[in-house]
Amino acid sequence: MTAISTAGRPTAEPSPDILIIGGGVIGTATAYYLARAGISVLLIERDHLAAGASGVAAGMLAPQVEAPFDDPFFNLTLLGRAEHPPLAAALFEEAGLDVEYRPTGILRIALDEADRAELQRRLRWQSARGLRAEWLEPDRLGEREPLLAGAAGRLLAGGLWLPDEGQVRGTRLVQALAVASVKRGARLRQGEWAVSFETRGDRVVGVHTPRGLLKAATFVLAAGIWSRDLAGSLPLNLPVGPVKGQVLMLRALHGAPRHIIWTGECYLVPKADGQVILGATEEDGNYDARPTLAGVGSLAEAALEHLPWAGSFTVEGMWAGLRPAAPDRYPIIGQAPGFANLIIATAHFRNGILLGPLTGRWIADYIQTGAWAPELAAFSPARFLEPARDGSV
Ligand SMILES: Cc1cc2nc3c(=O)[nH]c(=O)nc-3n(C[C@H](O)[C@H](O)[C@H](O)COP(=O)(O)OP(=O)(O)OC[C@H]3O[C@@H](n4cnc5c(N)ncnc54)[C@H](O)[C@@H]3O)c2cc1C
Repeated sequence: MTAISTAGRPTAEPSPDILIIGGGVIGTATAYYLARAGISVLLIERDHLAAGASGVAAGMLAPQVEAPFDDPFFNLTLLGRAEHPPLAAALFEEAGLDVEYRPTGILRIALDEADRAELQRRLRWQSARGLRAEWLEPDRLGEREPLLAGAAGRLLAGGLWLPDEGQVRGTRLVQALAVASVKRGARLRQGEWAVSFETRGDRVVGVHTPRGLLKAATFVLAAGIWSRDLAGSLPLNLPVGPVKGQVLMLRALHGAPRHIIWTGECYLVPKADGQVILGATEEDGNYDARPTLAGVGSLAEAALEHLPWAGSFTVEGMWAGLRPAAPDRYPIIGQAPGFANLIIATAHFRNGILLGPLTGRWIADYIQTGAWAPELAAFSPARFLEPARDGSV
């Protein structure tokens, strides 16, 4: 099979087995694991790699801090966290890039008595599950985090210390996955975008781009919030929308936090180069990926109220990104109902960096074995989408 150019002339490049749409963390992780398995893959990215939410993410690998209870999603996120240390080592070896994986831990601060009671409840069930978590009274917060010593800690109602939470640099992760994929034979094209799908019966046969029709055996739709528009061309009503997030990039002149500090209203994430990310807003349904004064202002206010020492940090920049989210806020990963050779992988909401590598590995496994990891059953597209036509599943 050969790809066809806009002029109708066959191009020299052969069609790949797998065509991935979207160069964020989900698309590049999928490309990496497919290339590792020796499968031919082409990834197309409309803009540049990590142009979407993946380029803005704070990079936390934080299942425990956000989990109110134990459920299949919590289990998924724990598995996702475990992927990162070996992947970071492999990418350093293969791509020569440090994704800045660091097990910095998270100190989740309690702001008042209600917060304290809720965090202590989480401590109990997470400890009972065998996870590491420790309660720190206000006068002990400084032992863990010097910036919270003395009066700074006594303003707070204690904290939950989660030593196994970590972080990477989202943009670095995408870059390293892309470099390692290419070294293993994957093709990546930036500045090339999918306009619509071409179908025949229950199969997708190609993706229309401004340069022509790209054919493949199997397609992976990993275009973040924009996946909805492309699915619409099938037509499938994929319920993915944006939850805008804004962050401030700061730098601490007199010592950054040692750990990630999370108050429930904002977080401070100290990066390897001394930068500190203050995040993040949650603005449902907002498609405008530009920072606003109200957005960054609300972050500054939240930080200054409870972490006043952060007031001396200098401001290096402000960013915003659009988190892809489903109505139930869980990822959508699996075969598109009605289309045998189309895989949907989106809606990772607040956890795409955490779950990207696991998602990519499991998609590559599915393509090789025909079987999905059982842990994905609750996150299938089928929970939202009906088959497009009778008998075509
Ligand atoms: C402020 C903020 C903080 C966050 N912090 C964290 C965190 O600490 N930890 C964590 O795990 N997650 C975090 N997230 C969430 C995480 O960033 C997302 O879940 C993840 O990046 C989604 O990845 P994706 O690949 O699905 O989408 P994206 O990164 O948005 O990538 C989609 C890509 O598809 C491309 N595209 C779109 N349409 C087309 C087309 N037609 N053809 C070709 N290409 C196309 C886009 O240009 C884009 O590059 C954060 C998000 C934000 C906004």
